[in-house]
Order: sequence, then C-alpha cells, then structure tokens
Amino acid sequence: MLLVMHKDATSEQIDSVMLMVTENGYTPRPIPGGERLSIGILNNKGPVDGSRFLSMKGVKEAIPVTRPYKLVSREFKREDTIINVKGVNIGSGHPTVIAGPCAIESETQALTIAKRVQEAGAEIFRGGAFKPRTSPYSFQGLGLEGLEILSRVRDVTGMPVVTEVLDYENFDMVEQYADMVQIGTRNMQNFSLLRRAGLCQKPILLKRGFAATIDEWLMAAEYILAEGNGQVVLCERGVRTFVNHSRNTLDLSAVPVVKRESHLPIIIDPSHAAGRRDQVIPLSRAGVAVGAHGLMVEVHNAPEKALSDGPQSLYPEQFDLLVRQVRAIYANLKENGCEGHAVSA
Ligand code: PEP
Ligand code: MN
Repeated sequence: MLLVMHKDATSEQIDSVMLMVTENGYTPRPIPGGERLSIGILNNKGPVDGSRFLSMKGVKEAIPVTRPYKLVSREFKREDTIINVKGVNIGSGHPTVIAGPCAIESETQALTIAKRVQEAGAEIFRGGAFKPRTSPYSFQGLGLEGLEILSRVRDVTGMPVVTEVLDYENFDMVEQYADMVQIGTRNMQNFSLLRRAGLCQKPILLKRGFAATIDEWLMAAEYILAEGNGQVVLCERGVRTFVNHSRNTLDLSAVPVVKRESHLPIIIDPSHAAGRRDQVIPLSRAGVAVGAHGLMVEVHNAPEKALSDGPQSLYPEQFDLLVRQVRAIYANLKENGCEGHAVSA
C-alpha cells in the first residue's frame, strides 16, 4: 500500500500517519516525490485495509501495490530515479558511458586506458580489483593494490570509479575506495551481500544474474533498497541460453520491461553479453536505441595481452567509434521525440 499525501500536508499530519502505520504493525517508509510526499507501507503479510488511513487528515490516496517488489516499483515511485555517482548522473537522459579494462593489472595499464577512454567520452572508469573467475587458477585480481590504483586513476583523471565487491568480508574495503560498488552476475542472489550493500552510502551497480528472471533481479534490488540504500543502477549483461555464437545472450527486451516496472535506471553491458569484440559495437547501438540509460564497456590498450576478457575488450579506436555512434543514435531519437527513457514509450 502506498499512501499519497496532499501537497500541503503538514509535518504533524505526516507524523501521525507514520505513527498509525507503525501502530498497525507495519513499517512506514517516506518517499519524497516531486510535488508531494508518499508513505510506503512495508512488512505487511497480507493486503492492507486502506480505508483507516484514508480518513486521516493529509492523506489524499491509498494505492494498493500489487508487485512483490515494492520500493523498486513504479507503483511506489512514478518518477525516474537519477543516480549521482560522484557528480556523474545515470538516468538523466543522455546515455552515461562507463569504460575500462576487465581487471586492473598495473598502474600504467589502468592510467593509460583511463586517459584514453576519458578522451573518447567515458564518464566513469571501470576495472576489477577482485575478479570472479571460473577457474581458481586464473588471475584473481590485484585486490587492495588494485583498489589503490583505482584511487589514483580518480585523482589523476577526476573520473569516478566503479569496481566489483566479491564477498561480504571485503565490502568495507571496497566501499572505502570505490565511488560505485558493483555486484556481479554470480552474486545477484547473495542475500547477505545485498543486505550489506543496502547499508552502503555509495551507489550500487547490480548486475542481472545470468539465469535470473526480471522479477528475481528486481527482488534482489529490493533487498538493497529495503536496508536503506536507494542508489541502485541495474545492469543487463546477458543471460545464459543455448547459443554458442556469443558468451551470453543480451536480453534487450529487459530494458523496456524494467523501465515499465521500476523507477531505477538500467544500463547495458554488451561486453560480457557478447564475449567477443566484434559484437560489442552493434549491441551498444541497440542498447541505446532500446532506451538504456547507459553502457558499461570493456576497453584495453593491448587486449591480446589482457589478463582477463581480452577477446571481448575493444581497442581504444573501436571505443571512439562506439561513443560517436551511440551519441548519434541518442541525438536522433531525442530529435524525433524519444528521449529513450519515457515511461510510456
Ligand atoms: C565484470 O563486469 O567485471 C564482470 C565480472 O561482470 P559479470 O558479473 O556480468 O560477469
Ligand atoms: Mn570482464
């Protein structure tokens, strides 16, 4: 249930509605909107009788929420949420481009790539310090040293940095260095990690599990919001299917569905979806055309020498082209009346 307050509801009226919700055994969650405040009712086991709230002063409407995910749903919050990553907005219209190598390998490697992708138009730098690898014998990332290199990249370029947290134990450390904390596909249903992310003060990039439905993905985001962190960006990165022409199958239809169901921004990672460099530019174009709020792309200055995901990493010149093309597509869509993020599109 969502209680929508009148535009001119007083703080006393709001307080007494909150109290009434608590007295009924539920948890009230204030949700500020553009014009008016709403109060979400959480922790109800069954349907809530809205009539007892409707009769209270200051309450305009009581809207039943039908979705299992509440805080992430459009029913709870109609306006798009814009996530600010240390000054860079995701979800504000133009597609935000995040780029960098799969893994941080050395300071020289990270700085070379960061400067290069920034010149091309990237606004946020990516790079893994802790890498989730299928084989325990593959490069696992530089760990703390990688995080320190990421800080250096931020200091030198001014770009915010996003990096993955693999486990609960290292969350404090990653949170301290990152401007945005990534939860990868393999951890999408690691519920203790999600709850910890909910206590984090920084934005979370939540990737879709490679075998997760959209409902499961949004429920994972709900864990984070339920703990109090409303700064979540969703990332579609491909799901596992029967095909063998790509590493995963990029589910482009997830974008309009998520935008209908949720107010949270959604970006696309064409690199992990494709697993092959030659598909990354076309999928990026498609991602922007379908309305994604941004892209996350792997770029390496020497992909053939990369310690992880070289075959899907773009050469810097390819990244130049990608940015030019997606900007052109976005500009064209905007000119023709589609901002690419309209709820009813
Ligand atoms: C990554 O972005 O570095 C990564 C490991 O992605 P995913 O979790 O989507 O495989
Ligand atoms: Mn990778």
